Amino acid sequence: MKFATRMSRLGTESAFEVLARAKALEAEGHDIVHLEIGEPDFDTPHDIVEAAVQALRDGYTHYTPAAGMPVLRQAIADYVSHTRDVNITPDQVVVVPGGKPVMFHTMMMLCEEGDEVIYPNPSFPIYESMINFSGAKAVPIRLSMDRGFGFAPEDLEALVTPQTRLIIINSPANPTGGVQSAEDLRAIAEIAIKHDLIVLSDEIYSRIIYDGEFFSIASIPGMLERTIILDGFSKTYAMTGWRMGYGVMPATLAQRMAQLVVNSTSCTAAFSQVAGAAALTGSQADVDQMVAAFRERRDLVVAGLNEIPGFKCIVPRGAFYAFPSIEGTGLKSKDLADRLLSEAGVAVLSGTAFGAYGEGFLRLSYATSKDNINRALERIDAVVRKG
Ligand code: PLP
Repeated sequence: MKFATRMSRLGTESAFEVLARAKALEAEGHDIVHLEIGEPDFDTPHDIVEAAVQALRDGYTHYTPAAGMPVLRQAIADYVSHTRDVNITPDQVVVVPGGKPVMFHTMMMLCEEGDEVIYPNPSFPIYESMINFSGAKAVPIRLSMDRGFGFAPEDLEALVTPQTRLIIINSPANPTGGVQSAEDLRAIAEIAIKHDLIVLSDEIYSRIIYDGEFFSIASIPGMLERTIILDGFSKTYAMTGWRMGYGVMPATLAQRMAQLVVNSTSCTAAFSQVAGAAALTGSQADVDQMVAAFRERRDLVVAGLNEIPGFKCIVPRGAFYAFPSIEGTGLKSKDLADRLLSEAGVAVLSGTAFGAYGEGFLRLSYATSKDNINRALERIDAVVRKG
């Protein structure tokens, strides 16, 4: 079969591959602790499920407007206005099936050969994959553990060229749990304005934050008109399987993104959208409880990882991932991740699954029970001590 050339530039998300391998081992009777996949282990809150069930009974089983149902676009506009301290109207909102399509559509509508996109590395692998797919050049900016997995604004400016079109930022971040400081975001905004760049701000973990308040680059004067906010329901409301996300951007961009939606998915599932509106406007108590549980697990996993010879883990300030350095073990990230799965039944991801600068790290998702975390820590420790 001959494929279009662009297919050779498309990457993947290896969390799904590791999950498949782990499931295959489980099917053979092995006991596996899953720390590979980035999704809350909690069920979707009851009220949200009930809203979807009622919506199905009420006949929300048809197409909706491509950019989303008016009631949901309004709820999102209100929510984003409130949480980012900005003024958003529904025509700036595009509802899509998950956060990922916002990346896909952003690259498709803004980037092409000859353009450059600056993106954090290590980071969610779909950024690099989609930049390459669009034909643009992917320009990594290295995140360092010493800076809490942020980057220095001056390092960003050094990478800007006349071809730079877009900067991607992600705070709180996958895979590192890092949170970019408000001061750094202000400096990044200054660079974006000075060089007339667009910012894709992936804020999917904006509610899963442990210290202080979430701060969006879109809140900075002059940024709303050049920022595409990516957010969604997957992580905040434990709704990964519902496929519900959205982009918030200037209305002219929103219209073009909606055109891509017409050409791809037509719309997001109607009953999911009704449930999404219920999620945003209903009680947030379940979210708070989930974040409190993640915080306890974070403390457990970080303390345990720092006991393992050759591991060093800083405290993640958001999301639900630990990203320990394993440099002290002398092992390669991918080799250790493979051994942990095959020898100890612990599924984790190699830091290199998130880009070349992820070498020397592992990613562990701690969105699982304390029991599982303790079992995983014991097993990892045993493998590392074996050498
Ligand atoms: N952005 C980041 C940083 C993520 O980690 C993920 C999922 O893991 C997404 C976006 C995509 O979320 P969704 O499942 O809603 O497409």
